[in-house]
Amino acid sequence: MLHRRQLLRAAALSPALAPAMTALPAQAADNHARPFDAPYAPVLSQPSREIRTVVGLRPYRGSGFRLEHEKFGRRDVIHNYGHGGCGVTLSWGCAQLSVELAEPIDERRAAVIGAGVNGLTTALMLLRRGYEVSVYGAALPPHTTSNIAGAYWHPTTLYDGRDAITDEFARQFVRAARIAQRRFQHLANDPRYGVYYMRYLGLRDEPPLKERTPYFEGDDLYAGLAVETDPERYFGYGYVERHHALMIDPDIYLRALMRDVENAGGRIVQKSFETADDVFDLKEKLIFNCTGLGARDLFGDETLEPARGQLTMLLPQPEVDYGYVTSSPETGLLYMFPRKSSILLGGTVEHGDWSLEPDETERLRMLSGHAMMAQRIAKHQAQ
Ligand SMILES: Cc1cc2nc3c(=O)[nH]c(=O)nc-3n(C[C@H](O)[C@H](O)[C@H](O)COP(=O)(O)OP(=O)(O)OC[C@H]3O[C@@H](n4cnc5c(N)ncnc54)[C@H](O)[C@@H]3O)c2cc1C
Repeated sequence: MLHRRQLLRAAALSPALAPAMTALPAQAADNHARPFDAPYAPVLSQPSREIRTVVGLRPYRGSGFRLEHEKFGRRDVIHNYGHGGCGVTLSWGCAQLSVELAEPIDERRAAVIGAGVNGLTTALMLLRRGYEVSVYGAALPPHTTSNIAGAYWHPTTLYDGRDAITDEFARQFVRAARIAQRRFQHLANDPRYGVYYMRYLGLRDEPPLKERTPYFEGDDLYAGLAVETDPERYFGYGYVERHHALMIDPDIYLRALMRDVENAGGRIVQKSFETADDVFDLKEKLIFNCTGLGARDLFGDETLEPARGQLTMLLPQPEVDYGYVTSSPETGLLYMFPRKSSILLGGTVEHGDWSLEPDETERLRMLSGHAMMAQRIAKHQAQ
């Protein structure tokens, strides 16, 4: 835990970073695929720049998301929930796979329960295939967990490890990831969707003990992927994994999805269901269950648990066109992603914790930890 004095010291250092930022070329703000050797504008991680601190609960299952057809009498339910820390990332892929599960069913009118990224994407895909669709959500954007997501395109915090998943899940996962990534590529840099590239850096002081294993979903999904071990190159870090990553600004993106669903003829209704039987009272017999963590109570899935995450949003800095994840004994886990509307500071994953109350100690740890990062970045670039 960091003391208040350390926080103030780190925060006080940030204004000194301003000269490094103003040295950046003016077009930096608009160019989100800059080369890795271009300058890195330090983040102004100061309490005076904080907009809000929020908590979200990732819908986590140790065995991975559930993408499955289940029969309840005359009702067909397609489950599409439990995407942990990567529900935005996988959304297009899981939507496509769940629509494929419904294809053999002779029914063209569907209810989608859930108006987060997975419900809306599934609805859109159904509409584009000629279904008549109503979306029902207890919460609508901007009040869903999907609006809290980073959202950095990367399948992570999804299952307990290779031993915890089935081969069938592994196949679904890889296929969903690859479909989804391609879909997001086509949306990149269209300002209506808030999808764009950033430079991503995974920073470690020491190389890992084990050799790097390729990403399960395929290294080829990560443009410019490389490992650097020269500490001179990235702010003194001895092991850096970098790539060009897709960022999805959830507020812009979910607004666009809602608009697309409505423009395609879909209906979005705010409605909460207590039990599965309440869902079965709907006139639609084909039901897509995209309720995220809500599936625990609604369909009795006790393997679903929250993986709590707290984020502190700072005022936007358009010159910050990179994100990072790092961890050290001094700061703990930290990640930073640039949104159009804010700079997002994060670094918590707490399994089984249902509290939606922000934790003050964590808030201070993030502000001071990211201020230290900014100081390190500025110092190494000035040398
Ligand atoms: C701090 C944090 C950081 C994250 N970062 C990333 C990231 O960088 N990249 C990424 O891809 N993902 C990230 N995620 C994960 C991502 O937010 C989730 O995986 C994703 O939002 C799940 O989407 P969903 O549509 O399945 O669920 P939700 O967005 O939770 O939507 C569920 C919908 O179902 C409705 N619902 C639930 N129960 C009922 C009911 N009984 N009746 C009616 N409606 C109901 C809800 O009201 C809501 O409309 C992050 C999450 C957190 C918390």
